Amino acid sequence: MAFVLPDLPYPKGALEPHIDALTMEIHHGRHHAAYTNNLNAAIKDTPLESLSIEAILAKGADNLPAAVRNNGGGYHNHNLFWELMSPQGGGEPTGALAQAIASTFGSFEAFKKEFSNAATTRFGSGWAWLVVSNGALKVYSLPNQDNPLMQGDTPILGLDVWEHAYYLKYQNKRPDYIAAWWNVVNWPKVAELYAKARSQKSEARSQ
Ligand code: MN
Repeated sequence: MAFVLPDLPYPKGALEPHIDALTMEIHHGRHHAAYTNNLNAAIKDTPLESLSIEAILAKGADNLPAAVRNNGGGYHNHNLFWELMSPQGGGEPTGALAQAIASTFGSFEAFKKEFSNAATTRFGSGWAWLVVSNGALKVYSLPNQDNPLMQGDTPILGLDVWEHAYYLKYQNKRPDYIAAWWNVVNWPKVAELYAKARSQKSEARSQ
């Protein structure tokens, strides 16, 4: 079954002034579309064709053909990315996620600093991630379109720091893009992914 490019969950200009409409249009309509088409071409008539995108990525970066690793990661990463932003975003998380962030990183501000640092210092193209790893929260970055599922972790927040994600508006000023992006983070969605990751973990333990 072929993978489908999802519609953006909001109009392309809805994240302005933080993310501009032209960047959204090109990022979704050309880059994400290309990952989708290239993934479908790479898995056509192979056993991977019958799997979910999560199951494909969970096979691990080194066990996937390069075209599947890069385009499968690109497909899933961007599916997540659009959902992890919202015109009503920003602020801070609440509930169990807020408590876990505070107990893991010391405070929300300390978490934000660590995540921003991971995003800023990723050399070249890649993503910064907040993941659930063996039940615990962790922050790191990965190169290119690699996804935490490839190393057994569950991503709950991701930031695209490829130049295509910010160059039209921010040029070389990646830190300004990162600072602006916090204003559109969809914390209820992050909390939902956190709860799901935790419940999958406890299901796995009880089996
Ligand atoms: Mn991208």
